[in-house]
Amino acid sequence: MADCLFCGIVAGEVPAEIVFESERAVAFRDVNPMAPVHVLVVPRRHIVNASDVTSAHADDVAALFEAARAVAEAEGIAAPERGYRLVMNVGADATNSVPHLHVHVLGGRSMTWPPG
Ligand code: AMP
Repeated sequence: MADCLFCGIVAGEVPAEIVFESERAVAFRDVNPMAPVHVLVVPRRHIVNASDVTSAHADDVAALFEAARAVAEAEGIAAPERGYRLVMNVGADATNSVPHLHVHVLGGRSMTWPPG
């Protein structure tokens, strides 16, 4: 989609440190990491956010979770030895800033609950 930052990364038009790619998903490091491991996993297909997901996106959403697991394994933070947090922000109160569906994969340190 034109003017979408993450579509630009998926297309290779915007630089990013890509750590995993599959047919339907791309993962790259967050430019402002909140944890030792902070990777964003996005569908190649433009979907605005989690509240826009329908059954028509089933393959894309499955690909997101498969990619997140692959990232966790590659980064050495997979459960049960370590563990990680998956976050999807939706809307202003959740500080959602990029309107292209993405999962934050956060790990490499102990997480607090509830989140701040
Ligand atoms: P969210 O607040 O859930 O919309 O998360 C958007 C995330 O994208 C933030 O954590 C930003 O640090 C990250 N971000 C913004 N621009 C880029 C970029 N060019 N490359 C990688 N991550 C980015």
